[in-house]
Amino acid sequence: MKTELLNVNHLLKAAEIIRGGDLLGIPTETVYGLGADGLNSIAVGAIFQAKGRPQDNPLILHVWSADWLARYCEDIPESAYQLAEQFWPGPLTMVLKCRRRTPEELEELKTGPICSYTHFGPRVIPDVVTAGLDTVGMRCPAHSLCRHVIQMAQTPIAAPSGNTSGRPSPTTAQHMLEDMGGKIPAILDGGPCTVGVESTIIDLTCMPPRLLRPGGVTLEQLQAVLGKVAVDPAVTRQMAKGEQPRAPGMKYRHYAPKAPVVVVRGDPERGADYIRDHMSHTRWDGVICFEEFFPMLAQGKGPVLSLGPVSNKGEQARRLFDALRSMDETDVKRIWAQCPDDGGIGLAVANRLNKAAGFHIIEV
Ligand code: AMP
Ligand code: MG
Repeated sequence: MKTELLNVNHLLKAAEIIRGGDLLGIPTETVYGLGADGLNSIAVGAIFQAKGRPQDNPLILHVWSADWLARYCEDIPESAYQLAEQFWPGPLTMVLKCRRRTPEELEELKTGPICSYTHFGPRVIPDVVTAGLDTVGMRCPAHSLCRHVIQMAQTPIAAPSGNTSGRPSPTTAQHMLEDMGGKIPAILDGGPCTVGVESTIIDLTCMPPRLLRPGGVTLEQLQAVLGKVAVDPAVTRQMAKGEQPRAPGMKYRHYAPKAPVVVVRGDPERGADYIRDHMSHTRWDGVICFEEFFPMLAQGKGPVLSLGPVSNKGEQARRLFDALRSMDETDVKRIWAQCPDDGGIGLAVANRLNKAAGFHIIEV
């Protein structure tokens, strides 16, 4: 199959791909997604196939607005609408209770069509989206092309990140082509992602609400609306064998380039000194560092990439996955990476780096 690159002039075609039950590479402000009609179980099944994604890792549903929540969710707390008011459209996913199916819907799922299109009416989320959980992740993305496609297709789009499972997420259409070229009919090119790391996931089915994955909406921003927010242990440490994280996806190796990563945390200057003193200065050691230390570290033979200035965590988030992917195009055997502190979007950058490193972290 040849994968076609679509652009802003092909939005109708993009929506038709979704409506037709096919897969579409779709830009969002966080990362590129691998999208399908979230109400079509066969289309959603194809996402898992194309990515090589474990079946027990549920998908996020992307909707047009908070008005769509009640179609698919129940017992929606007031806080969901407060968060939507503040942060939607935007990089925030809320885990909510999935709406129980009516007896007619259950019957239809058994015997009838695998998806029933009744425009604007309540419809059924197939189990393959939620991995059989009684909760569902809901997000309203901000990227204008993505919003057009949702609007034109009039269906929630189920989309995980558009990478092959385990690889760093794609933040450009080109990244997505690397992973999904030949496997899906089309990728809609919406330019580089402006956030660069996946959405924040907050579980609103428990008290206090629980941060399952840090992202573009920061913990501090959530606390300002919700008050107390619990942070799931999977955000900051490796899950022990047999331990079940609340976001099933957190137990899998993630975001990882081919070479092992060593994360260096703490004072940036001391971190840069540590890397200089411990790297091999051969082509086998790559470095991802803050811009300020680039001249000092870029003197060896291996590739050195800048994440952006120490103080600009937004830029670090935007560049992170591209840097990890770029390392895969070299023959490095080890990657040293400087890591920001946990404030603001730094928590998300640190979380992705730590996971890429399998939590191999050096504190300086
Ligand atoms: P991805 O889109 O590949 O970044 O993955 C989506 C993330 O959302 C994974 O970590 C999932 O485990 C998580 N997720 C999706 N739905 C739920 C849910 N109902 N409860 C908890 N986590 C969820
Ligand atoms: Mg992913």
